[in-house]
Amino acid sequence: MANDLSNLSAQLPAHAAGSSIRYPHFINGRYVESVSGKSFENYSPIDGALLGKVSEGGKSEVDAAVAAARAALNGPWGSMSLNRRVELLNAVADEINRRFDDFLAAEVADTGKPASLASHIDIPRGAANFKIFADTIKNTPTETFEMVTPDGGDALNYAVRVPRGVIAVVCPWNLPLLLMTWKVGPALACGNAVVVKPSEETPATATLLGEVMNKVGIPPGVYNVVHGLGPNSAGEFLTSHPDVNAVTFTGETRTGTAIMKAAANGVRPVSFELGGKNAGIVFADADFDAAVDGISRAAFANCGQVCLGTERVYVERPIFDKFVAALKTKAESLKPGRPEDKETGIGPLISHEHRSKVLSYYERARADGATVVTGGGIPNMSTDLSGGSWIQPTIWVGLSEDSAVIREEIFGPCCHIAPFDTEEEVIARANDTPYGLCTTVWTSNLSRAHRIAKRIDVGLCWINSWFLRDLRTAFGGSKQSGIGREGGVHSLEFYTDLRNVCVKL
Ligand code: NAD
Repeated sequence: MANDLSNLSAQLPAHAAGSSIRYPHFINGRYVESVSGKSFENYSPIDGALLGKVSEGGKSEVDAAVAAARAALNGPWGSMSLNRRVELLNAVADEINRRFDDFLAAEVADTGKPASLASHIDIPRGAANFKIFADTIKNTPTETFEMVTPDGGDALNYAVRVPRGVIAVVCPWNLPLLLMTWKVGPALACGNAVVVKPSEETPATATLLGEVMNKVGIPPGVYNVVHGLGPNSAGEFLTSHPDVNAVTFTGETRTGTAIMKAAANGVRPVSFELGGKNAGIVFADADFDAAVDGISRAAFANCGQVCLGTERVYVERPIFDKFVAALKTKAESLKPGRPEDKETGIGPLISHEHRSKVLSYYERARADGATVVTGGGIPNMSTDLSGGSWIQPTIWVGLSEDSAVIREEIFGPCCHIAPFDTEEEVIARANDTPYGLCTTVWTSNLSRAHRIAKRIDVGLCWINSWFLRDLRTAFGGSKQSGIGREGGVHSLEFYTDLRNVCVKL
């Protein structure tokens, strides 16, 4: 059943008022419900209220979306000039900025994160992800070569980057708009068409982006959204669809393994941004306040639901006690509260289900003999917020390195702090994990910082900083934290195929 949900944006700011919203699919430029009529419910992490009903996509919706994407590639999108494409993507960015408040309301309602955070990071990056890749594609040089082999005669080689085709984009819930556009921006800049499967927890901003695409004149079928679940649902149907040419995914390592199997059928290339168990390393010579501030953000920002977050902190022994006390003060200063309140320092976890998982690690830490420096449970909230999935920021000391709390990704506002004595020792401990996403090193000795950066098995190493991002740089994880790199020209490499043309002169 097709319907014109042009009033979707009008409904979104009403999240806070508890009105029930419908989240349809966006296929071929139109908002549509599932053929099956199936839907699932979306709840507010802030107070547990029902936000609305999300259409649950199945095979029919995935088939329709992939077919629409293919038709767009064979139609106006495929034949559009690069200049016009770039113009349209800049217009998408401008329109997101123009409707900043709608996107902010939608993101905050779905995730519960403080509006101050979403307005500083999530929404501006959502827009920037279109602008930066429009610029990148326009300014990337191409290469030509004259024939140099002696028997080839006179010829000219040139290489063109061609779109891969239909890209499946499967997204998580922690930074919904930011992480989705991080893939949709470059995919469209390169001339592909996309089918997005947003997280079931955060359907709003992907849905709203459909309105933006229509408004600025992106042809129907270029951007499609199919809502649904993962296994045996829209996620699996999409990533195993025979007419999908490449799969880009952000989420848990375990899910990545399942998607890789699905993509193997058809030998589809994948780009994966997966889980992490990142270490923060603080030397005694570091700028102490900067290190405390950086580790505090890395551990607790977005209620610890950041793949780049730090759950393992190693502090050089002479400053260990002082550091633990300072981080405790930081954690205790984070006031939970409504996203719109200026004093709110921390939001809830995404769901009760996720809170149960995080709390199971809080229990596990106790069982493994940790000392709880602060937190460790559920905060007392006012009656109107008591139905939300709130949790206390938590710090532990005293665990041995074989505890599951140290080994497994928790994805909550928590960290374990351990002392270390030597550079050699801390490198070995930081590397002792199947993950390899990022590390932060805090020191005033730059030789040491570079030495460590060379020896840490990660995709991203921050020195005296965290989450400082230039979108042209390579982003991604090593070991079980990912496959491939995106960002700047690295994204262009994934979202295009390189074709060499040899012309006999
Ligand atoms: P998740 O893996 O549970 O889900 C991500 C998406 O995959 C959802 O849309 C889900 O419906 C879909 N999915 C689940 N099973 C599927 C299947 N079998 N086939 C196809 N799709 C399937 O992850 P999450 O809980 O939404 O997000 C948290 C995880 O994401 C954490 O592990 C975090 O570290 C990771 N993450 C990584 C990065 C990064 O850049 N490396 C960034 C953000 C989040």
